[in-house]
Amino acid sequence: MKIIASNWKMNGTHDEIHKYFKDLCLEEKNLSKTELIFALPFTLLYEALKINRNYFLKIFAQNCCYHSEDCGLTGEISTKMLSSIGVHGTILGHSERKQFGETLEVINMKIKSSLDEKLKVIFCIGETYDDYIENKTEEVIKYQIEKGLKNVKNLENIIFAYEPIWAINSNSDVDFENIRNISNLVKKICIDTKSYEPKIIYGGSVNLYNFRKILDIKDISGILVGKASLDSKKFSKMI
Ligand code: PEP
Repeated sequence: MKIIASNWKMNGTHDEIHKYFKDLCLEEKNLSKTELIFALPFTLLYEALKINRNYFLKIFAQNCCYHSEDCGLTGEISTKMLSSIGVHGTILGHSERKQFGETLEVINMKIKSSLDEKLKVIFCIGETYDDYIENKTEEVIKYQIEKGLKNVKNLENIIFAYEPIWAINSNSDVDFENIRNISNLVKKICIDTKSYEPKIIYGGSVNLYNFRKILDIKDISGILVGKASLDSKKFSKMI
């Protein structure tokens, strides 16, 4: 089973989502060996779940509140609210969310809240360009996993997304050796510390030309696609 995940980020309107899914032509595909995930803006979740009735897509939110109970946090959306409309999961720890001051402590709380609500989590980890050229990637990844998953016992509903920050939305070449090393490291950490073999997907400028080679990497279970997944025709070919 391979995971193909699309991260729409801050893109898409109500009208566009209908055309997008029509153009994907999912009814013509054999999806028996593919887990298809769409991480969508809050405004499109309900519509996507309605469109999804005939398919087996997994619809994910791109954020959630760290606080689980109903309360006076204006503008926030809880995991309880997400699961009440049928959302399947959340994507958390993305470097673009960290621009809004999201810390690993907050990410840890959001992960726990999602898992408590039986939502799946895509947990994004990855190093900056400076970390990468200074050979600090392994150190950074270990730290992010330790902090992000502090006191998280059950990893079954977590998918790790290794996304080097420098590779996101860039035209830089994919470093296959780096993906091989880091996916192996993540696997080793999870087996050693949590006795669990994780699912690891890769994200960072995945496109029509490199996705097959990425999917062939031993410890990689799938891909997380941002920009290239917004073009329904291209993404349909990847699926
Ligand atoms: C992402 O940011 O999650 C991502 C995969 O982006 P892109 O494919 O555009 O690099």
